[in-house]
Amino acid sequence: MGEFDLIARYFTRPARRSPLGVGDDCALLQPRPGMQLAVSTDLLLEGRHFLSTVDPARLGHKALAVNLSDLAACGAEPLAFTLAIALPRVDEAWLAAFAAGLMALADAHACELVGGDTTRGPLAIDITAFGEVPAGGALLRSGARTGDDLWVSGTLGDARLALEAFRGTVSLPQEVFDAARARLEMPQPRIALGLALRGVATSAIDISDGLLADLGHVLRKSGVGATVEAAPACALLAAARGGWAAERERIEDLVFAGGDDYELAFTAPPAARDAVQAAAAQSGTPVARIGLIESQPGLRVVGADGRPLARRFAGFDHFGA
Ligand code: ADP
Ligand code: MG
Repeated sequence: MGEFDLIARYFTRPARRSPLGVGDDCALLQPRPGMQLAVSTDLLLEGRHFLSTVDPARLGHKALAVNLSDLAACGAEPLAFTLAIALPRVDEAWLAAFAAGLMALADAHACELVGGDTTRGPLAIDITAFGEVPAGGALLRSGARTGDDLWVSGTLGDARLALEAFRGTVSLPQEVFDAARARLEMPQPRIALGLALRGVATSAIDISDGLLADLGHVLRKSGVGATVEAAPACALLAAARGGWAAERERIEDLVFAGGDDYELAFTAPPAARDAVQAAAAQSGTPVARIGLIESQPGLRVVGADGRPLARRFAGFDHFGA
């Protein structure tokens, strides 16, 4: 099977929302009047971002999910995406499963594949997603203000727990492992929440590298600091809620520096608490208040007694140790 047959069979669908999809030199996108395009790219490499043993349908899902998560963090509505893929060989069963997982998530968000590039090489997947957001209405990292509450959606740390189980550093009861593995391999981008938070949240980011590392980006861009309360944050590890017990420090590591969560961390003034809860209810996404934005720069994690935890948490950094 040649490159063009492969594209035709697995990656060509009729364009519905876009004026022109796969097949020409460019695709054409048409944001509605008054809307800006929100654009995000993520590159996934075998060995670095996913394991070679991962189910291809789940890989297809995740490759798009991580990009849609970026759109969610900006309050953007998905419109279209492109797919650049390097494949070591043409494996039709693999391609069919990959495309099925990819397209199922795309269809769930009415986000259509409009183009890409296909080449032979070590397995790599690069998706660029395009979304729409009202001009001037995107949620940015730079908008957090002193006195804002700090909120997080969903659960934190479970994806990293699954990764540690794969690495053999922890052994989990089967149900806990299955749930954590689904968080690692099938993250659900918080699109509906991002849309509902337009005009409510002052800033937002999606958590891909770990809560504290990503929150650090918001604080630097906004020129503020924050205090995070360890207790409500650690309550967000679903595995712990499900009865899995570990030392407190291990749970803190998972929740604060786990990575691959694809939840939203966002800020909003206390006067908007009801509006935040309404956005959560409207989008069917649980949210929890875990801290406070302060004028004092830096990031402090405090225990139940209000005293700072003595330990440091490493963020996940691809160029770090
Ligand atoms: P060009 O050489 O002009 O860049 P290509 O021959 O690479 O075009 O691709 C032909 C068409 O197929 C283009 O419309 C391109 O966007 C699309 N395409 C290529 N690879 C993919 C892919 N993996 N998924 C979706 N569309 C693709
Ligand atoms: Mg090309």
